[in-house]
Amino acid sequence: MAINEQEIQNIVRSVLQGMNATAKTEAAPAPASSALASIKDKKLLGIFDNIEDAIAAAKKAQKEIQPMPLEFREKIIANIRKKTLENAKLFAELGVEETGMGNVGHKILKHQLVAEKTPGTEDLSTIAWSGDRGLTLVEQGPFGVIGAVCPSTNPSETVICNSMGMIAAGNTVVFAPHPSAKNVSNLAIDMINRASIEVGGPENIAVAVKEPTMEVSKVIFSHPDISLLCATGGPGVVTTVLSSGKRAMGAGAGNPPVLVDETAIIPKAAEDIVNGCTFDNNLPCIAEKEVVAVDTIADELIYYMEQNGCYHASKEEVDKLVKTVLIEKNGKYTLNRKCVGRSAKVLLGMIGVTVGDDIRCIIFEGEKEHPLIWEELMMPILGIVRVKNVDEGIETALILEHGNRHSAHMHSTNIQNLTKYGKTLDTAIFVKNGPSYAALGFGGEGYPTFTICSRTGEGLTSAKSFTKSRRCVMVDALCIR
Ligand code: NAD
Repeated sequence: MAINEQEIQNIVRSVLQGMNATAKTEAAPAPASSALASIKDKKLLGIFDNIEDAIAAAKKAQKEIQPMPLEFREKIIANIRKKTLENAKLFAELGVEETGMGNVGHKILKHQLVAEKTPGTEDLSTIAWSGDRGLTLVEQGPFGVIGAVCPSTNPSETVICNSMGMIAAGNTVVFAPHPSAKNVSNLAIDMINRASIEVGGPENIAVAVKEPTMEVSKVIFSHPDISLLCATGGPGVVTTVLSSGKRAMGAGAGNPPVLVDETAIIPKAAEDIVNGCTFDNNLPCIAEKEVVAVDTIADELIYYMEQNGCYHASKEEVDKLVKTVLIEKNGKYTLNRKCVGRSAKVLLGMIGVTVGDDIRCIIFEGEKEHPLIWEELMMPILGIVRVKNVDEGIETALILEHGNRHSAHMHSTNIQNLTKYGKTLDTAIFVKNGPSYAALGFGGEGYPTFTICSRTGEGLTSAKSFTKSRRCVMVDALCIR
C-alpha cells in the first residue's frame, strides 16, 4: 500500500499531537482490567508447542507467499497496518503489564507509527541495464524463512515491524521472542496471521513457540530450513547469531551520547534531549543515554533541563542510584532488570525520594567513567559530562559510544562542528537539533524500525534489507532503443 504525502502528513501530525499530549506525563495509569488476563485462554495462530513444527509451517507458508503477486502481499501488509492501529492500545498495555517496562501512551504511539510508516513492497526496487546485448535486471528476492530474535524492550513493535518488512519481501518468519515478553510477542504473531487469512493469504507467515527458550533459539540458529538470521537485542545474542555460520543481521546495543556545543539553541536543546531521553522511559536503543556539554553553556543547559521536568540529583542520591539500578560484581556492572524502563518517579522512589508527576528525568553531573554514564542504562537517568570545548566533546562522545557505531546526536548551529561529529562518531543514526526519536520518523523524515543493524551495516532495516540480489539476464533481445 503506497501512502500518499497528505496521508503521511496527517499521520505525523496526529502522532506529534499525541506525543505532545503524553510526552510530559508520567506512565499512563494501569489498565482497569488486566490486558494479560484478557488474552489468557485465546487460541493464538502461528504459535506451536514444538519448534520443528513451527519451522515446517513457516516453510510451507513461504512456498505460498513467494509466487503470489506483489499486489497480494501488499493486501496482507495493508491489513496488518489496519489491525495494528485497532490493537495499538491493547499491545501497549500488555507490553507494559508483562515486562513491567515503558509507558503505555508512548507505546501506543510506537505501534501507530509502525502501522502507518513501515515500508511495504514499494521498498523493493529493480536495477536495469539495456543495450546491444539485451536486458539485464537485478531484482530483490526473498531469502525464504527468516529466524528473528526480538527484545523485551520493544517486543510487539519489533514483531510487527519485522513481519511487515520480511513478508513484503516474500519471506516468512520464525520468531524467538524474549521470554519475559512472550505473551505480547505471540499475540502480535497471531495478529499477523489473522491479517493474512482475512484477505485470503496463508496461515503461519509468522510463527513462534509457546515457550521461547535458549534451546529453542539454538534450533533456529542451526536449522537447515532457515536461511537468514536477524537478531535485535544486546551484544550476547548478536555475537551468537554472527557466529552461527548463517548469513546474519545484528541489531545490537548502543549508548547514544548527545553533544551540545556553545552554538546550540539551548532552551530547545534541553527540551529535545529530555523528550528523547524519556520517550518510553528510555527503552529505545536510539534514545539519548548521556549528555556531553561544552562548559560555557552547561549551566544554562542544566537550568533548562530542570525547567523541562528534570530532577537534579545530589551526590548522595546518585550514589544510592548506582547501588540500586546496577549490580556490581568483580568491578563489572550489570543492570538491575527491575529498574530498566521504569519512570524517573519510580526510580527516585526506590532511593527514598518522593517527587510529583512533573518529574520525567533524573540528571546529575559526572565524569565520563561514572557507571551511570558509562553503562547503557535504558532508564530516564542522564549524566552530564562537562567538557572544555567541542573537540574535547567529540572525543568524549566517541569514547562513550563504545564503538557500537549505533546512534549519536548533537545540538549545534555550526555545520563544521556537526560534520566533524558525524564523521568521527560514524554511527548508523545521527540526529541533529532534534529529539532522538526523529530518527524513527517521529517528527523527522524517514520510516520507522526497531531493528537498527549498526554492527552488520544495514542500518535502519526495511523490506529491502531482507532480500538477496538476483540477476536476470536476457541475451540479445528486449532492448527496444
Ligand atoms: P537481550 O539481549 O536481553 O535479549 C534480546 C533477545 O536475545 C531476547 O529474545 C533473548 O531471549 C535473546 N538472547 C539473549 N542472549 C542470547 C543468547 N546468548 N543466545 C540466544 N538468544 C539470546 O536484550 P533486551 O534487554 O531484550 O533488549 C535490550 C538490548 O537490546 C539493549 O542492549 C538495546 O540497545 C538492544 N536493542 C537494540 C536494538 C537495535 O535496533 N539495534 C533494538 C532494540 C534493542
